Amino acid sequence: AIAVIGSTNIDFVVHVARFARPGETLHVHSSSTELGGKGANQAIAVARLGQNVALAGWTGQDMLAEMARATLAEAGVNTRGLMADATAGTGRAFITINHAGQNQILVDGGANMAHGDQCAAILAPVLDNAAMLMLQMEMDPHLVLAMARAAHERGIPVMLDPAPVPDTGLPAALYAMASIITPNEIETQALTGLTPTDEATALAAARILHARGPHTVIIKLGHRGVVWSTPAAQGFVPPFRVKAIDTVAAGDCFNAGLATALTRGADMPEAVRFAAACGALATTRAGAAEAAPTADEVATLLDA
Ligand code: ADP
Repeated sequence: AIAVIGSTNIDFVVHVARFARPGETLHVHSSSTELGGKGANQAIAVARLGQNVALAGWTGQDMLAEMARATLAEAGVNTRGLMADATAGTGRAFITINHAGQNQILVDGGANMAHGDQCAAILAPVLDNAAMLMLQMEMDPHLVLAMARAAHERGIPVMLDPAPVPDTGLPAALYAMASIITPNEIETQALTGLTPTDEATALAAARILHARGPHTVIIKLGHRGVVWSTPAAQGFVPPFRVKAIDTVAAGDCFNAGLATALTRGADMPEAVRFAAACGALATTRAGAAEAAPTADEVATLLDA
């Protein structure tokens, strides 16, 4: 199975004609309540592809937790490692999207952020029989590092999505524990100081990241595609041509596709292409976890 350790949120999404000014009240165009958080999104996206997956982390003990657990279970995610915290609320994100598609996002990490590395042993059982560990940065960085170390010690490859990049950057030791690191353009800029605008600049940034530890560096360039780099080879995968309407969670679906393809034995060029198809399909539908494609949909796009 693939193990995911990360955040579970409930997203409150509102669509408005324009953002409210201070003191102003607006009627919204529409609103919805959805599962979110990079951990939950990545776990659901793996499950959609038909791969065994388990999620570990924390929710609160509240109505939002019940909603999150039900959605995860329905998608087929093993949630035995998802703990309920009596003292903190389930993570929430308040997302406003205007007519131009711009967004404003406020996050209350709640239970996701309430545990440091002293809690690593609580999450460790999710690593039993794991073929790969997927991590992101929506938890305490000390805990993320401890989990990466636990996986590394067991010989389990770690795929690190450095999102969001903490103000203080990534702990140096975390790079050394990651086999694969998958920044997007903004994260690449934050980690290396280089803005990856094309294949050459992305490969320059990748060299900087390789020097810090990861064997494989994958730079997600949104609608411009993706650049991958290992010590043995480099490559560029152009974007699949799709009608993108909502890019939320494209990166999460990409990572889910990459982990699934690699654990099924694909080589790097093949796995990155599969992942890019997953990311592209995610942009054709609204929502986060809801937008994740099935294996059949990916196969259809790859054969087109
Ligand atoms: P993130 O969501 O982390 O910012 P990106 O926006 O870079 O990540 O998207 C991840 C991957 O999904 C891209 O590298 C690409 O393969 C695919 N993708 C994203 N946006 C598009 C798009 N508009 N058209 C085709 N593929 C896309």
